[in-house]
Amino acid sequence: MNYINFHTHKSFIDNHIISIENVFPEDYLEGNYHSDKISVGIHPWFIQGDGQYQMQLMRTILSDQKVVFIGEAGLDKLQGGDFLRQESIFLKQIWLSEEFNKPLVIHCVKAYNEIISLRKKIKPSLPWIFHGFSSSVPVMEQALDVGFYFSYGVALLNDASKTVTTFCKTPLDRCFLETDEADVGIEILYQRAADLRRCEVAQIEDEMKCNFKWLLK
Ligand SMILES: [Zn+2]
Repeated sequence: MNYINFHTHKSFIDNHIISIENVFPEDYLEGNYHSDKISVGIHPWFIQGDGQYQMQLMRTILSDQKVVFIGEAGLDKLQGGDFLRQESIFLKQIWLSEEFNKPLVIHCVKAYNEIISLRKKIKPSLPWIFHGFSSSVPVMEQALDVGFYFSYGVALLNDASKTVTTFCKTPLDRCFLETDEADVGIEILYQRAADLRRCEVAQIEDEMKCNFKWLLK
């Protein structure tokens, strides 16, 4: 049994789980993480000044083999202040993703149109994954058309959430599951995903493993 927790801020070791721990650049420098697979990025909420110092840090951090993804990086219209500054740092991380050959994990709040348009325009060679995806079926379909992946979190546990419908219509070969900040075991999300898709948990496990291998190829 091997679960993949695609995005978590919690630091723990469990031999049954491949956990992609999200680490901010400053925490990386202080060694504040435990997983042997991490993602490092400048989060739109935590850009310092013009972000140049953090960008310099990123360049040195990305040569570490433990860093499998860049992120979370992205755009947030509700938090994180100046949108132009967010865009500038997001674009720089898109180029880092291409340069260092690491897929981009995206934090997106009310900016799906902007981010989908960016992928259409830039045509990057690396995959981009919306983490904590919780948008509608039409938005998912638009993003699917330009090659996005989707990581689903605890919103799946809420029957009333539109995320449940969106997840059920997302091809499994573009899906991941994650706990993010939540105190929920990833196995709960695998079971929930299997129930929603009316299949065995083993099938979800196989699909996620296959998708993960594909991202890291
Ligand atoms: Zn997160």
